Amino acid sequence: MHSDMIGKIEKARRYAMEPERFRFDALRVTVRGNNGGDHEVVLDGDRWQCTCEFFAGHGACAHTIALELVLEGMLPAGVTPVAPVAPVTAVAS
Ligand SMILES: [Zn+2]
Repeated sequence: MHSDMIGKIEKARRYAMEPERFRFDALRVTVRGNNGGDHEVVLDGDRWQCTCEFFAGHGACAHTIALELVLEGMLPAGVTPVAPVAPVTAVAS
């Protein structure tokens, strides 16, 4: 292999270990759901879309949140952060 390319591969390995170098501005991913159905998730700028029914009603779903977790630190600043877990409320006795 050409020595120039060896140097590029070594550099690429270092880059690959530094996720802060990457910003996903757009992507299209097929996510396999638990019930065997595929869901198409799209990120366009700072907006998610998913073809599942839950997303249509809530604007977020397990598929988009999973991708936020996978791509943590590599999404544009405006992308909706992972939905906070609802606080546990004490049941009045
Ligand atoms: Zn979904």
